[in-house]
Amino acid sequence: MAVYNDAVCKRCRALGTKLFLKGERCFTAKCAFEKRPYAPGKNKASRKKITSYGEHLKEKQKAKAVYGILERQFRKYFFEAKKKKGETGINLVQLLESRLDNIVFRAGIASSRKEARRLVSHGHITVNGRKVNIPSYLLRKGDTISLSEKIKAKEEIKSKFEDNSRRGVASWISTDIDKLSATLVDIPTKEDIQPPFNENAIVELYSK
Ligand code: SF4
Repeated sequence: MAVYNDAVCKRCRALGTKLFLKGERCFTAKCAFEKRPYAPGKNKASRKKITSYGEHLKEKQKAKAVYGILERQFRKYFFEAKKKKGETGINLVQLLESRLDNIVFRAGIASSRKEARRLVSHGHITVNGRKVNIPSYLLRKGDTISLSEKIKAKEEIKSKFEDNSRRGVASWISTDIDKLSATLVDIPTKEDIQPPFNENAIVELYSK
């Protein structure tokens, strides 16, 4: 049976980049952006010139879509990043990357951040042995995440972890497939992350 996938994929097409919101499908030829890399309902001739404000806004929309965050929370991250030492843009990306749901995804335990969020909010993830069901929980260097004993027993969870790990796990995370766990060994740099958005444009947008 055909599945309608356009709602999520439209965001990638509208924002002009692959945001990897659908897990497995994003890595296949079925990816809507691979097939139609232009905004929905538009052809080349009808595209309007975008203003500088519009460009900056687009970068923020990409970041919010990638991490699945709404405006209020995103703004909070921005002000937290601003308070920290160093470049605000990089601090912002590092904060977003430290979210528990993101690490579950980056470690390969889930195929998408959406799936990772579901695992966390259903209480299937532990941090340093304690259950944490808050997707926005921020991990620190050295923290270890694992699956709850209940879900560890499910064979498909392990095979999914293996499959996702084969595709490559983030270099700042070490994984143990036998124990179904992962450790944040370092805070990633911007070069490690290579975000699909321009964090400096977001800083400029909020600074206006
Ligand atoms: Fe859809 Fe994923 Fe492709 Fe984006 S990257 S268009 S979410 S399949």
